[in-house]
Amino acid sequence: MASTVPDAKYALIGGSGTWGMRFPEDLGRDDVELVEVFDEGFETSYGRSIGFKLLRVAGEHVLRTAMHGVRYGDGGFPVEPPWVASHQVASVFRDAGVKWALVEGSVGGIQSPDDPGRPLPPWSVTITDDFMMLWSPSPCGPPLGRRDKVARYKEPFCAGLRRALFARSLREPQFAAVYDPGVYVCAPAGRFESAVEIQAFAHLGAHTVGQTLGHEAPLMRQLGIHFASLNIVSNHAEGADEGWSGEDAGGMGDFYATCAPIVGNVMVDALKHVISEGPGACNCDSYFLDRLDAFPVPGA
Ligand SMILES: [Zn+2]
Repeated sequence: MASTVPDAKYALIGGSGTWGMRFPEDLGRDDVELVEVFDEGFETSYGRSIGFKLLRVAGEHVLRTAMHGVRYGDGGFPVEPPWVASHQVASVFRDAGVKWALVEGSVGGIQSPDDPGRPLPPWSVTITDDFMMLWSPSPCGPPLGRRDKVARYKEPFCAGLRRALFARSLREPQFAAVYDPGVYVCAPAGRFESAVEIQAFAHLGAHTVGQTLGHEAPLMRQLGIHFASLNIVSNHAEGADEGWSGEDAGGMGDFYATCAPIVGNVMVDALKHVISEGPGACNCDSYFLDRLDAFPVPGA
């Protein structure tokens, strides 16, 4: 029996920054109430979503899902590609009436936003201000968004939400450095990047590399959802002179177990600030073209 999507104006998309914990239970915060767990997910036009949790923060409903909505099979591999999961999550957000959403994820550090060519080490954080994705995933329909109101992608991340993430991140002593702006390149899913791919991304101006944000950001903009992303560097990107930190799997596991509550608390605090104080000014609503549904003219 499919559940009805509850109303929520706010949402959190969990990523690998918090995949090392139960969210929000392991945060142990008394200002985050777990209202309801939707283990079975919700029916969408893109298949059934994974589970969602409905939280209450600062008096408002907040929908939350883990790992970008990606479903993992018995062998630990994703069942569906990330762009399908992103469509499922976006579809649930649309049905819930979400207006503001935050996401986090760990990334490879390509280069410092302040000093191109200088490494961006683990525990650095970027509040991503732009992204690139130079490839196209398999199409999945129906399109989200409206033909009479077509999205543009100048300033794809909400200035107000970015300010909240940036301000809270600056107060986090475990973060090695915090940057805004920062450019995220979304690489194809399913494998790590080659060293020469990372070199190419660096030349193109990318600071971090991941495999999810390029699928989420366009859908959020198409739906008119204000959206911002915190990205924590878990490792140098491939080919860096510094090599990988934690060459063994256990080293990376330690990183994710340590960073999960830190990132989790930053996300909650930033969202709580947005709900309590308001997100402040942004330009998100101005990046749409009207009336493209008038074309092509019949008979053209
Ligand atoms: Zn905005």
